[in-house]
Amino acid sequence: MATVATGAGIEDVPLFINGVRRVSSGATEQLLNPATGAPNAVLYHSTSDEIDAAVQAAYGAFPAWSATPVLQRCRVFFHFHAVLEKHADELIRMVTEENGKTLEEAKGSFARGLECVEFAAGATSLMMGDTVENVGTGVDGYSIRQPLGVCAGITPFNFPFMVPLWMYPMAIACGNTFVLKPSERVPRTAVRTAELLHEAGLPPGVLNVVHGTKSVVDAILNHPKIRAVSFVGSSVVAKYIYSTAAANGKRVQALGGAKNHSVVMPDADLKNAAQVVMASSFGCAGERCVATSVVVAVGDIADNLVAELKTLADEMKVGDGSEKGTVMGPVITTDASKRIAGYIEKGLDEGARLVRDGRKDSCTKSEGNFLGPTIFDNVSPQMKIAREEIFGPVLSVVRVNSMEEALHVIQGSQYGNASSIFTRSGKTAREFVAKAQTGMVGVNVGVPAPTAIFPFAGWRGSFFGDLHALGKDSVQFYTESKVVTARWPEN
Ligand code: NAD
Repeated sequence: MATVATGAGIEDVPLFINGVRRVSSGATEQLLNPATGAPNAVLYHSTSDEIDAAVQAAYGAFPAWSATPVLQRCRVFFHFHAVLEKHADELIRMVTEENGKTLEEAKGSFARGLECVEFAAGATSLMMGDTVENVGTGVDGYSIRQPLGVCAGITPFNFPFMVPLWMYPMAIACGNTFVLKPSERVPRTAVRTAELLHEAGLPPGVLNVVHGTKSVVDAILNHPKIRAVSFVGSSVVAKYIYSTAAANGKRVQALGGAKNHSVVMPDADLKNAAQVVMASSFGCAGERCVATSVVVAVGDIADNLVAELKTLADEMKVGDGSEKGTVMGPVITTDASKRIAGYIEKGLDEGARLVRDGRKDSCTKSEGNFLGPTIFDNVSPQMKIAREEIFGPVLSVVRVNSMEEALHVIQGSQYGNASSIFTRSGKTAREFVAKAQTGMVGVNVGVPAPTAIFPFAGWRGSFFGDLHALGKDSVQFYTESKVVTARWPEN
């Protein structure tokens, strides 16, 4: 494991341990640009010694970092914000190159990532405890929040810049040190961002980055020096992370997959609802945990809604996300594209009406992992395309007669991440908010992803754990409370 020079235009994806890039001696894998199929970089899967070195670096940095005054810790994140803004173009391009989303989408996710940094920079007041004077005669009671130690984060491919920032800024601002294992599909953005945090003044060892897949994750889950694990990814893996980390005595929050519903009521502004649903379903090529995957059309709006959705989908320009004018980029890998196309076959087998077939779009003839927007109508909630997470640009329309029926469809899903309602009625919206069985709810909003000041996660099969990501939950997750009872005798 040798130290390598810092620089942009990374070819070999390095480890980041103790504040420097290091060449790994692990097995290699070539990473391809999703839009062109051309090699992007070479990933080295970290060895067990390298993972241990990252954890030991974090463990070694913890005493000094946790003893650093909280205002000073937060100040690093003010600097980090400025450094990130300075490198915005570089990071946005890198996200598009690694993940395939358009530059506009990468820019949007960059802004949402910055919000997480802003939130962490204000951790000071969120770490305050409670005090009750004179709980007994001459006795005061108060609580304080203290960091845990080494925390770890395991992240998915779909937001290379933003999702890691759901985790380590707040963990580190609270006084912890961190080991990040980004998705093996998009590791470069994570390394570069970590490096920029050090440029902003983070001491070596406080944030470290390792790479790989299951065996690397298992090494993290089993490492005795890791106190807490944050995970974002598919539900099957989330459940595994939750049970394994918890069995090993670690604190864990595991955000899983999704199947999100947008309910369009008969009184909705049809054009607006169609536009918003469209952007939610096909933005980021459908690879978003808050994307609308099922439209529940209530009553007689269905025919017009389906026609409007098709018109809008026909207008979408699918192509290389780095090219101007592209509205939808490729999906992450050829395997993903085959899996999604397989769901289109399943929908046809199950008898749904294929309104628009993205497999026939001209973009699919190029080298990238392209699939155009696909729409199914007359989908029943029992069909696989309505039940399973597709995580691609396939939208199903389920027709129902009432909001009660729509709520029933949402309740029947194994997932419970997000849902939205489109209506002009405040009463209807209010009732929906009260009854929808999901962790995040939108009203005339297609992507109800809360800002960093609120907790972010779903219910049921979309989340395993107690405390959600971001918001006040994140402060509680990354600290433990200590309650002090103090008496000062007179002599
Ligand atoms: P994934 O579950 O395949 O991978 C996520 C992480 O887990 C990666 O770092 C990967 O290396 C690791 N991993 C994969 N298989 C593993 C295994 N068997 N054991 C241990 N670790 C393993 O997810 P993905 O394909 O990278 O991302 C897409 C998924 O993430 C979708 O299901 C999406 O809904 C979900 N997601 C959820 C949220 C949320 O807020 N709930 C946000 C973003 C993405």
